[in-house]
Amino acid sequence: MELQEHKLKLQGIAVSPGIVIGKAYLLDRKRIRHIEKPIKNNKVDHEVNRFLEAVNLSKLQLQSIKDKATKAEVTTAGHGHLYIIDVHLLFLEDKMLIDETVDTIKSKEINAEWALRLVVNKLQAVFDNIEDVYFRERKNDIAHIAERILRNLVGREEDNIIEIDEEIIIIAHDLSPADTAQMSLNKVKGFLTDVGSKTSHTAIMARSLKIPAVVGLEMVTEVITAGDTIIIDGISGIVIIGPTPEVIKDYKNKKADYDEYEKKLIKFKKLPAVTRDCRKIVLTANVELLEELPTTIEYGAEGIGLYRTEFLYMNRKDLPSEEEHFQTYKELLEMISPNPVTIRTLDIGGDKFLSQLDLAEEMNPAMGLRAIRFCLKEKEIFKTQLRAILRASHYGELKIMFPMISGIPEIREAKGILEEVKTSLKKDGIPFDENIQVGIMIEIPSAVTIADLLAKEVGFFSIGTNDLIQYSLAIDRVNEHVAYLYEPLHPAVLRTIKHIVDTAHAAGIKVSICGEMAGEQEYVLILLALGLDQLSMNSMSIPRVKKILRQAYFRDAHELLEKCFQMSTAYEIEKYVRQQMLTKFPDDFS
Ligand code: PEP
Ligand code: MG
Repeated sequence: MELQEHKLKLQGIAVSPGIVIGKAYLLDRKRIRHIEKPIKNNKVDHEVNRFLEAVNLSKLQLQSIKDKATKAEVTTAGHGHLYIIDVHLLFLEDKMLIDETVDTIKSKEINAEWALRLVVNKLQAVFDNIEDVYFRERKNDIAHIAERILRNLVGREEDNIIEIDEEIIIIAHDLSPADTAQMSLNKVKGFLTDVGSKTSHTAIMARSLKIPAVVGLEMVTEVITAGDTIIIDGISGIVIIGPTPEVIKDYKNKKADYDEYEKKLIKFKKLPAVTRDCRKIVLTANVELLEELPTTIEYGAEGIGLYRTEFLYMNRKDLPSEEEHFQTYKELLEMISPNPVTIRTLDIGGDKFLSQLDLAEEMNPAMGLRAIRFCLKEKEIFKTQLRAILRASHYGELKIMFPMISGIPEIREAKGILEEVKTSLKKDGIPFDENIQVGIMIEIPSAVTIADLLAKEVGFFSIGTNDLIQYSLAIDRVNEHVAYLYEPLHPAVLRTIKHIVDTAHAAGIKVSICGEMAGEQEYVLILLALGLDQLSMNSMSIPRVKKILRQAYFRDAHELLEKCFQMSTAYEIEKYVRQQMLTKFPDDFS
C-alpha cells in the first residue's frame, strides 16, 4: 500500500480484465461478532422485546426486498429466483427458532445474540443428521436468517445486491457465486473483495459477466469508505482509491487504449483458430448462465466445452425439475447448434454455495462430499439431471462430462446409472442420442496416475486445471494467502498435463483443458505444444487466444516448451515464457 497523489493504491489479484472508474458501495458481508452476556432478572423482558423487534424488522426487510424484486425492471443475471425469500420468511415464524430463543433468553438470563446462537447451533446439528440433502442444505438458510436477525439486533444496516439502483463498484469481504449471479449488470460496474483468488468461482463469474474485478485485497473493506471514487484496473490488479484528476485522466486514456484493443480482437472472432504453420486447435466456451450465450456466439466459440450446471441450482429454494433442466439444455443446444455442447453434471461443493458462510464446520469442503461423490450418494438428484441431459441430446450434439472422478469404481457407477436412465427413457419411448459421448474431468492426481485405465472407460478427457493445480500443489484455490503459490507453469503441472495428453492420445481419445489456464494469452504456446486438442475458456478470452494462435508457429511453441522442460522452477519458466511472448507478440503483451 502506498500514499501518493491519490488517497491509497492497493495491489490485488486481477481476475476480470477491463478498467472502471466509479463510486464505492460497501456490502457488509462480515460475520457479526458477539459474546455471551448475563442479563439481570428485571431486564429479561426488555431483552426478549429487543429480540422480537429484530425479528419483526427482519420480516419487514424481507417483504420489502421481495416486493421490490418482483417489480424490478433491472436485468439480473440469475433470473432472480425469489423463493428463497419465502423460505426465510417462514423461518422467521418458526417456533423452533423464535420461541426457543425467547425461552433461552428467559431460562438462561442471557443476551438475545447469545441465545440465538445457542438455538441456531442446536438446529443446525439437527439438520446435519437429516439424510435428505435438500433439507440438510436448509442449514445454510438458517445461518442466513440468523445473521439477518443479528444484524438488526446490533443495529447494522443491511445490504441486498438486488436493491442497488445506481451505477456502483461493489466492495465486499467476500461474494458468493450466488451473489455474483444476481448482480444487476446495468448497475454493478466492478467489484473488489478482501478474499478470493483467480480460480475462485466468484472470479469465474466476474469474467462470465464481463465485470472488471480485483480480489484478494485482504483489507479493502477496511480502507474504503462508501462513496469514495475508485479506479479498478482489472488487468494489473491495481486499485486506486480517491484518485486525483490527473490520475483519473491517465486511467481514462488507459481505458480508451484497452477498449481499442478489445475492438481489434473482435475482428478475430470468426477466423479459424489455426497457427501460421496450419496447426488447428478447437476453442470452445465455458458457460455458467444462459444469459452469456449471445457473447459466447459473438466471440466465435466453436461450441461449449464446459457448461457448469450448478448455477441452475442456485438462488432458489427447491431443486430444478427434470423439465427445467431439459428446457435449459435444449435452449442451450439450439442456440449453439450445429456446434457441440458438453454438459458437466452437478459439481456442487467447494466454494460453491459455501463462500459467504462460516467455514469452521466444513473443515475441508474442497475435499468433501462434492461433485460426482455427492451425485452418487444422492442418486435421485443425479438421475433427474441425467434424464434431462439425455432427452436434450435428441436436439443437437451433446456430450456428458462427470466432474472430480478419482478412480474406476466412480466412473463405472456413474456410467451404470446413465445406462439405467437410458433404459427407462427407452421404456417410456422418449428419444435421445444413443451414442452420446461420455467424458470425465481430470482434476484429481489419482486420475492422472491411472489416466491409461480411465481412458478405456470414456470417450474424452477434459483437464480441470483449477482443481488439478489445487490438489497437485496443495494450494487452496480460494485462499488469497497462498495465491502466490498457485502456479500453472509449475514444472509439476506441465509434466502432469503432458502425461495426461500423451496417455489420452495413446488410447485414441481427445483431450481438452477447461480450467482458467486455457484462457490465458500467456500460456497459448505452451498449451499448443503440449498437444491439447481443445481449449475451453470464458468467452471473452476466445478472440485473445485466437489472435495469438494465428500469429504463432507450432514449431516455435514446441521449442519454447522444450526449453521450459529443462527449467526447474515455476519462477524461471514464467519469466522465460513472459519474455518470449513479449518478444514474439509485442502488441498483445506490452
Ligand atoms: C476446474 O477445476 O478446472 C474446472 C473447470 O471446474 P471448476 O472450476 O468448476 O471446479
Ligand atoms: Mg473443478
